[in-house]
Amino acid sequence: MTDPARLRPPLKVLLASPRGFCAGVDRAIQIVERAIEKYGAPVYVRHEIVHNRHVVDRLRAMGAVFVEELDDCPDDRPVVFSAHGVPKSVPAAARSRQMLYLDATCPLVSKVHVEAQRHYDAGREIVLIGHAGHPEVVGTMGQLPEGAVTLIETPDDARAYRPQNPANVAFATQTTLSVDDTAEIVSILRARFPAIAAPHKEDICYATTNRQEAVKTVAARADVLLVLGSANSSNSVRLAEVGRRAGVARSHLIDDASALDLAWLEGARTVGVTAGASAPEVLVQGLIDRLCEAFDVEVEEIDAARETVSFKLPRALAV
Ligand code: SF4
Repeated sequence: MTDPARLRPPLKVLLASPRGFCAGVDRAIQIVERAIEKYGAPVYVRHEIVHNRHVVDRLRAMGAVFVEELDDCPDDRPVVFSAHGVPKSVPAAARSRQMLYLDATCPLVSKVHVEAQRHYDAGREIVLIGHAGHPEVVGTMGQLPEGAVTLIETPDDARAYRPQNPANVAFATQTTLSVDDTAEIVSILRARFPAIAAPHKEDICYATTNRQEAVKTVAARADVLLVLGSANSSNSVRLAEVGRRAGVARSHLIDDASALDLAWLEGARTVGVTAGASAPEVLVQGLIDRLCEAFDVEVEEIDAARETVSFKLPRALAV
């Protein structure tokens, strides 16, 4: 009998590593799961806990109720704030309503909040490099009074920025930006304001940096790149962009294997696969299974970095 694998065309899959969940996402999901265990359902979650449809649907099935505003939560149920962070006004409102709240803000986002506060206390004008409307940006700008932080999204914004005192400026960044785009904006700011105060250590987090590095390594050998992640996930969108910039024009962001169009793989011999920091590993396995139905797949893992970061849970939920 003919081996069915012989009838399928060969396909090399380069699996980027690290990929998928970061320590901040892992912690945020655990906070919701443990809160449901401890307090029973429903537990309210202000904003999608992380930007991934599969994660949100699974937690919803367990008893989480996702809302956009604190006003949509009752006083007598616990509420979790998402990994992206919240403006200071949100916990303040929860306290004034005597609500039980759990803050799932990633500690690396909280670090940016602390930095912004430090610059403000030192009397500096603050620039935040990030994407307008992203909840992390809303949260970081909301640490300080309105008008204290100027958002810069593009190199042109950086060229046009006019502080009152050019000698007393600081910058911070969203954690999930493109490393290369941000470097360009920062170099414009540094050229214009040589004394600009910078983060002690990169604001773009280790997980974003490592996943982008892994994609560049994979892209050097791939004909097509498949990124698992949701369209509203900043770091997942960036991974597909990084793939394109690295020369893989056929870089696609997909929610899961069902969104794969096999026509994208026409003529491809090597496909890179990765997942954004909010996309669960089960989706990667599902995609490889789907590829195995159509191709004779050989998987090679490409290690760009080792990750050992983990974050503690809030004391109320620690076991
Ligand atoms: Fe934290 Fe980075 Fe993960 Fe965002 S992507 S949750 S900043 S570790």
